[in-house]
Amino acid sequence: KKEEKEKSKKEEKKEEVKDKKDEERERRKEKMKRAGAVYNQMNNKSLISEGSTVLGRFEVDAIIGGGGFAQIYKAYDKVRKEDCAIKMEHATLDIRRMKLEITVLLALRGCIGIPEILGQGKWQNGDIKSQYIVMQLVGKNLSEIRKALPHRRFSERTLYRAMLQILKALSLLHGAGFLHRDLKPSNCCIGATDCTRIYLIDYGLTRQYLDKGGIVRKPRAGVGLRGTIRYMSLDAHARHDLGPNNDLVAFLYTTIECGDGSLPWSNESTHDNIIKLKQAHTGEKLCTKQPVMTKVAEYIEGLSYHNIPDYEKLFGLIEDCNPPDLKDSEPYDWQYR
Ligand code: ADP
Repeated sequence: KKEEKEKSKKEEKKEEVKDKKDEERERRKEKMKRAGAVYNQMNNKSLISEGSTVLGRFEVDAIIGGGGFAQIYKAYDKVRKEDCAIKMEHATLDIRRMKLEITVLLALRGCIGIPEILGQGKWQNGDIKSQYIVMQLVGKNLSEIRKALPHRRFSERTLYRAMLQILKALSLLHGAGFLHRDLKPSNCCIGATDCTRIYLIDYGLTRQYLDKGGIVRKPRAGVGLRGTIRYMSLDAHARHDLGPNNDLVAFLYTTIECGDGSLPWSNESTHDNIIKLKQAHTGEKLCTKQPVMTKVAEYIEGLSYHNIPDYEKLFGLIEDCNPPDLKDSEPYDWQYR
């Protein structure tokens, strides 16, 4: 009898755990639904209306872009007497994203290749609440620019100069202890006033990978998928915690796509096929159309989570990709149009 009692108690416990799990699943589903509704609402409605003034200084102009989460508006800074950008995000969306982005932009204030943060705050438009960041306006992103070029790819006289600027911005970010985790052509923008400057944008997926003492944090097991499938490293596909080496893999794929016009897995849609093609295309094979990049690929592929990359070495390797007769003053591809 005792045994039976014990058995049924165990069964009960099991059921309880199961119920709790189901409840949790339901809660998660509800949350997703709400986020979806909010997202739809956000896409149809402006989070801020044209003509509004933010922080008594920034006059909101037209909407100029939108990412997965945000609405980007052009604005006019009455103090500096120049245009700027306002990134607005619906308040019920994950507020950690924007907080993180603000932390990173503040930590990297004044760094070359990182848009300057000018302000931040909360806004209410009717019943829609949102939070925003005011920042330096940047120009078109490298994905848009590439698609408008004659062969949908950058020339070697432009590509490596542009990518070196991105690599330098990335090294500053890593130096401050953060990973980007979503590096891709659409997150690399030319300057709005000086189009020979390239900026790395969108710090919504960053993670602090160094602790306060500058030591690499212990990798976590089985983390969620982060980033954009086309550009993520095999480690990211495997749900490993990411290190600076994985941002460099995204940098490598970005460079190959910008120079070749596509990646070997550009037309694939399933994870499995993309993973197989990434596994099959490393080093020389990845760089068949850009053999000058082979050394860069091999160096990056040789790094692991705990390695602090040798950025100076990488800068040199990218510089070596430039045609020997290239002058620094030469126009970039987008300046010819
Ligand atoms: P999300 O976090 O939703 O992906 P992003 O920060 O990537 O949003 O911005 C989406 C798009 O808006 C970018 O690809 C870019 O074209 C444009 N954008 C973002 N920030 C700026 C800015 N400071 N100035 C001008 N355009 C910007």
